[in-house]
Amino acid sequence: MTSKVILIILDGLAYNTAEQCMGFIHALTEQNQSTLYKVQCELPSMSRPLYETILTGVTPAVSGIVHNQVARNSNQQSVFSLARKAGLSTAAAAFHWFSELYNQSPYNAIRDRHTVDIKQLIQYGTFYHDGKYPDSHLYLDAELLRRRYDPDFLLVHPMSIDEAGHHSGLDSSHYRNTTRRSDKELSEFLPSWIEAGYQIIITADHGMNTDKSHGGSLSQERDIPLFVIGDQFTHQANCQPKQLEICGIICELLGVQNHEKAVTENLLLDENQTMAKQNLSMKG
Ligand SMILES: [Zn+2]
Repeated sequence: MTSKVILIILDGLAYNTAEQCMGFIHALTEQNQSTLYKVQCELPSMSRPLYETILTGVTPAVSGIVHNQVARNSNQQSVFSLARKAGLSTAAAAFHWFSELYNQSPYNAIRDRHTVDIKQLIQYGTFYHDGKYPDSHLYLDAELLRRRYDPDFLLVHPMSIDEAGHHSGLDSSHYRNTTRRSDKELSEFLPSWIEAGYQIIITADHGMNTDKSHGGSLSQERDIPLFVIGDQFTHQANCQPKQLEICGIICELLGVQNHEKAVTENLLLDENQTMAKQNLSMKG
């Protein structure tokens, strides 16, 4: 299995809000193009620790990235390092903490905001360092990286939902409307990404509580969405993916061998199923 993969992390998006406010993605579900799973994030339910968890498949307690102020390089194998080792190309339009985790730390805006360096783990990057950076710009950054560099793995990471949650809380029109806007932004780009054959994963690092924060073990903070889009997924409703398995799932999709990361049972088509599907479409 060798596919190009786009991972979209919608920062701070709680499961119930994703389920209720993302009409476009649910339209894809009704067309049998997308499947939504409920996933529980690891603890603490904070951003930097869980960026590392999603990209490496290890818990914050193991990675040592246990709170947001741990500003250093990751010392784990990640999607980025494994992809690079396999000779694949990588890109990210994301908050600058990703640059610190996988490229250089501390972040230096003049040096790192626009990264084109094939020796880095994230070879092509557009990193922002203001949480209020508009999602509309972020998606354009991602699309430019995709068109210009055609990466095998692209990370897309907008921040506005988390910002709205910190400003107004989980149970607010601000938070819900920001999620609806994010769904609209995605509707601008997802159709062409699907058409181009990408396998797409849309998830969150953590959720949000009514105290305008997150970090603990409330279900509102821990329950997050995982949407999968693409023909390499089984789309079986009874799969139970874990946040720790996202790294392994992406490695499998990319065709990265010997990654030793956990992969959710039955979430991905196996080789026989892929071949049967190809034969069917050739006959059709
Ligand atoms: Zn936050």
